[in-house]
Amino acid sequence: MQQIKETTLELIQGDITEAEVDAIVNAANSELIGGGGVDGAIRRAGGTEIARACAEIRRREGGCPTGQAVITPGGNLPARYVIHTVGPVWEGGNSGEPELLASCYQESLRLAVENGFQSVAFPSISTGIYGYPTEKAAVVALTAVKEFALQGNTVPITIEFVLFDEATHTCYLDALLNVFGK
Ligand code: ADP
Repeated sequence: MQQIKETTLELIQGDITEAEVDAIVNAANSELIGGGGVDGAIRRAGGTEIARACAEIRRREGGCPTGQAVITPGGNLPARYVIHTVGPVWEGGNSGEPELLASCYQESLRLAVENGFQSVAFPSISTGIYGYPTEKAAVVALTAVKEFALQGNTVPITIEFVLFDEATHTCYLDALLNVFGK
């Protein structure tokens, strides 16, 4: 666990659909249509309320661009809300992927603060089907959180990374050393 000013940061291995937080973050697609990976797991556990709310956003706004985030209720999940953010597809790293991925974390945290949430859980965005190398994504993710904690945030908030598999968890622990130096 890491305390950075008002922000508490935790890295755990587990299933994000079980996280008891104000909001979990979903690695969604731009159409906000159910996919595989963590998106499929969240929709299965949360039920139809999530799909209905996503359809409404799709109708109103046409979806969600890469690097942006939208919010829906959490349905049957322990989390009250789901923040859906769209990570970049990895195309070699020279197509703005790091900036877009950082933006996913920034925009999700902005929504969390705007809604008065005190706890939020992230998966490892883009490192599944979207192919972003996990070592690189972990550094981007934790750097975005560090900047939020040091520069942006003034309210108490707990940020959990809930990492599904051991390899991803290890990558994030290594990145924590890199980014925070301990
Ligand atoms: P993307 O399309 O952004 O790459 P994926 O869902 O394919 O998203 O993968 C993102 C990460 O989420 C991967 O590390 C994957 O192992 C992980 N993941 C899959 N299911 C869960 C879950 N239930 N809880 C937390 N992480 C999960």
